[in-house]
Amino acid sequence: MAKPIILAVDDEPHVLNAVARDLQERYRGDYRIVKALSGQEALEAVQEFKRRGNAVALFVVDQRMPGMSGVELLTEAITFYPDAKRVLLTAYADTNAAIASINEVALDYYLMKPWDPPEEQLYPVLDDLLDGWAADVPVPYDGIRVAGTLWSPRSHAVKEFLARGQIPYQWLDIEKDDEARALVEASTGDRSVVPVLFFPDGTLLEDPDLHVLADKVGLRTPALKPFYDLIVIGAGPAGLAAAVYGASEGLRTVVVEREVPGGQAGTSARIENYLGFPQGIGGADLARRAATQARRLGAELLVAQEVTGVRLEGPYRIVTLDDGSELRCHALLIATGVTLRTLDVPGLEPLLGASVYYGAATSEASNYRDRDVLVVGGANSAGQGALFLSRFARSVTILVRKHSLRHSMSQYLIDQIERTPNIAVRPSTEISAVTGDARLETVTLVDRGAGESTTMPADAIFIFVGAVARSDLVADLVELDAAGFVLTGQDLIAGGRRPRGWHLQRDPLLMESSVPGIFAAGDVRHDVVRRVASAVGQGSVAVSAVHRYLETV
Ligand SMILES: Cc1cc2nc3c(=O)[nH]c(=O)nc-3n(C[C@H](O)[C@H](O)[C@H](O)COP(=O)(O)OP(=O)(O)OC[C@H]3O[C@@H](n4cnc5c(N)ncnc54)[C@H](O)[C@@H]3O)c2cc1C
Repeated sequence: MAKPIILAVDDEPHVLNAVARDLQERYRGDYRIVKALSGQEALEAVQEFKRRGNAVALFVVDQRMPGMSGVELLTEAITFYPDAKRVLLTAYADTNAAIASINEVALDYYLMKPWDPPEEQLYPVLDDLLDGWAADVPVPYDGIRVAGTLWSPRSHAVKEFLARGQIPYQWLDIEKDDEARALVEASTGDRSVVPVLFFPDGTLLEDPDLHVLADKVGLRTPALKPFYDLIVIGAGPAGLAAAVYGASEGLRTVVVEREVPGGQAGTSARIENYLGFPQGIGGADLARRAATQARRLGAELLVAQEVTGVRLEGPYRIVTLDDGSELRCHALLIATGVTLRTLDVPGLEPLLGASVYYGAATSEASNYRDRDVLVVGGANSAGQGALFLSRFARSVTILVRKHSLRHSMSQYLIDQIERTPNIAVRPSTEISAVTGDARLETVTLVDRGAGESTTMPADAIFIFVGAVARSDLVADLVELDAAGFVLTGQDLIAGGRRPRGWHLQRDPLLMESSVPGIFAAGDVRHDVVRRVASAVGQGSVAVSAVHRYLETV
């Protein structure tokens, strides 16, 4: 396969040569470096790349060029390559233009000239961007291909799993692609078995169990140690933060995740309120960075492995995995988060994964290009989902039970929604019924104020309606609040009395549950702010309590 392209553009030949030299030095093994001396020349090159079917990974573009500025060039170029990363080369005087273009052209970075030494000023930034690009862009032909139909829940589950596991794949819709349909029929003799996954080694899997798939793509690996200082259950933001802090502070740390790293945050289209990312960050990108960081610092991550039981044996906390194996530790952190609440509407259940989705806006959005979709929910996750869908769908209608979004959604999202012409908000509205055979056809909406019903056609429903604690695993072991969230620290001291069965001469530590050595962090904890930053903060702080506990065992 042809190497993806990095396009460098600058009107000053000596600067252009210097950029190209630095790019060649580091990236020539994996990328083709192409130079252009003007915006116009660059644009012609971009059109030629598109015709030839080349991939462009990165634009490195000077802002100050006669005829066409860097931002003007990027505005045009990204219509051909919307996934390419964008870096603007600026002089000090151009800083304002660069900051403005973060929004205008979704600039990924601006670099002040000169950038010497490149090892410090250039490569770390570009490495990060190119890693992100490579992780997001599906590999054509010589990677994994998933053949299925848009309306098959199993195809949806497999795509979601691979996407969240950062496993690149090519999607083949056998209803639209004759070649793909022929490939499935020739390989399985039956076009109704979907999805069918084709691997580069020539093997295939028909409608695989996700554990089998995880084994096949190398996601499932066994634990390396017989004993850990800290076992973390759940690799959402809380669990990943605990892994980073635990491992970096010398604890033998393992994280067990039933799916792939990222948790709810990993399904978010764009997290805009997490500190340090001025242009926001995709949830999957954040998850990938955090998992890489945790591994680099020495934590083990066991993915696609579910913890099915927790028990105590004296000072040891023992977890059982879904394959029956056991891991032992001194300190256990429950970071299992929450699961999405389901919507009880007649006709909905059979359409799940086939035009009706819980969350999942990011993986399915592009399938609803020019269609009419509904988003149910009034919180931030619904707002983000709607904004992401609006980039593809003809219309997005947000259905909210309350009479306004203001009670439940951040103002920055409300502002963006108001500025987006193809999003409409229907307050005081609920779905009372849906119809559809294999895929959604109509929805019946009820206006809660007037009590009137209307039935209308719709192509898909994306549901974001709140969350339930994932604490079943430890429900018989630790104290929970009435809604099932784990009580920790001072929340366990009712009327000045320590929890029942507590035999130590100290109060439970911060984030320690009613069982010494079992801690909880993130959304699964009682009465917390359910945000990425909050989960990350709790995961990292929990580790300091773990240290204090470990001093006593
Ligand atoms: C669509 C969406 C968008 C959001 N957008 C934002 C945003 O923009 N900004 C913001 O601040 N917050 C946002 N949030 C909220 C934020 O994502 C959560 O508060 C945060 O992810 C909570 O982190 P956590 O680690 O506590 O739990 P989770 O993220 O829920 O992670 C828990 C993990 O534990 C795993 N797990 C559960 N049980 C087991 C088991 N038995 N064995 C092994 N693994 C298990 C789960 O698979 C999961 O990966 C959003 C949430 C959603 C759903």
